[in-house]
Order: sequence, then structure tokens, then C-alpha cells
Amino acid sequence: MINIQSLTHVYEKGRKINFPDWEVADMEQWLLLGASGSGKSTLLNIISGLLKPTEGQILINNTELYELSAKRMDRFRGKHIGIVFQRPHLIRSLDVLDNLELAAVMAGLKIDHERNLAVLNDLGIADLARKYPDQLSQGQLQRVSVARALVNRPDLLVADEPTSSLDDENAAQVIQMLTSQAKENGAALIIATHDQRVSEHFTKTYLL
Ligand code: ADP
Ligand code: MG
Repeated sequence: MINIQSLTHVYEKGRKINFPDWEVADMEQWLLLGASGSGKSTLLNIISGLLKPTEGQILINNTELYELSAKRMDRFRGKHIGIVFQRPHLIRSLDVLDNLELAAVMAGLKIDHERNLAVLNDLGIADLARKYPDQLSQGQLQRVSVARALVNRPDLLVADEPTSSLDDENAAQVIQMLTSQAKENGAALIIATHDQRVSEHFTKTYLL
């Protein structure tokens, strides 16, 4: 599913970040751990095709990610990778269902209305379908973000500090949701966190 070798990244004026080699198999669930500033978000951005690494190799489903053209990369990401950002990236002028539909359109996929409703239903937020992002709580926004990451049936679900802005109860629910949804959808899962509340749920950890 993912194969990382000899990967490094250097931001302009930054230090060199070295990423240990990593192999993630289909449907495995991993925690990406490291102190603040250690490079977790950088690595997730590299894996998601959003940031070209300075050196090294990254294969996703045996595709050398950074050899794809920009257009093919966008399609590849949209089809194979579901991303839950630290703060929900929803389009404010679109309601929840339209935000989900946009995810399909961006990936060049057909809109699957049934699928979108089913995902909302699975996440317990079917009643939010016609609400706008401004009308939702933090916990609800995070659920919608998870829904949007899942609608295209990705092989890989990545989440960057998905619990950092949530209270204990919501944090536990989001972790439970990510792990069970990844499993049900046949996707591998990577959650980046420095949140101690999350680590007890996982056995596979990659440390930065
Ligand atoms: P983490 O997610 O583990 O907190 P990051 O990947 O965000 O770590 O950051 C790793 C290092 O790279 C930090 O030192 C951070 O300041 C630096 N960094 C992150 N993004 C940028 C950027 N866009 N430009 C320059 N430096 C950056
Ligand atoms: Mg980060």
C-alpha cells in the first residue's frame, strides 16, 4: 500500500527532516507519533501527494507518487486517499451534502448520492445533510470531514491530529469512527497525533 524509502525533507531555511523507512500493508492501522515539530504533518502531506519530498522514494499502490503529472496526481489522490485535516477544510458556501459531492467531482468520479447518504448515516449525521459548515459544532465538523474523506472509497485514510480540538468524549468517538470506518471501507489508516488519549487504541506505531 505505502512504501517509503530514504525519505527526507528540507523546508527553505529549515533543518533536514529524516523519515525512517516505512511499509504499510493494505488495511493496516497505524499511529504516527512524534513531538510537535517533528514532521508528522510534513510526512502526511508527502504521503497525500501535497508536498514533494526533497529526497527519497514514496510508492502508493506501487505508483511512484511524485512521477505523476499534477493533473493525474489530483485524480490519484481523489480516488485513493481520504484526508482528514487538523482543522476541517469544508467549503462554507456549500452544505454538507454538496461538500461531499464536490469531493467526487474533484476526483473525476460520478456523484453517488446513495453512497453519500449512507456514509452520513454510518457516522450518525444524516440529519446534517442540508446544514452549512457555520451551523455545526467542532465535533460535527470533524464527523463531516471524516465523511468527506470516505465518500470516494479511498484505499488509504489519513488523519492529521484529528482529536486535538475535541474534548475527551468527542476525541474517543472520532478515533472509534476512523478505525471502524477504515475497516468497513477496506482502507488502511494513518493517524498522526501527539495526543496521549489516542495511543492506547493502536498497536502499530511509527515514531518520528
Ligand atoms: P508536526 O506536524 O510533527 O508538528 P510539521 O511537519 O508541521 O511537524 O513541522 C516539521 C518542521 O518543519 C517544524 O520545524 C516546522 O516548523 C517546519 N515547517 C513546517 N511547515 C513548514 C513550512 N511550510 N515552511 C517552513 N518550515 C515548515
Ligand atoms: Mg502537525
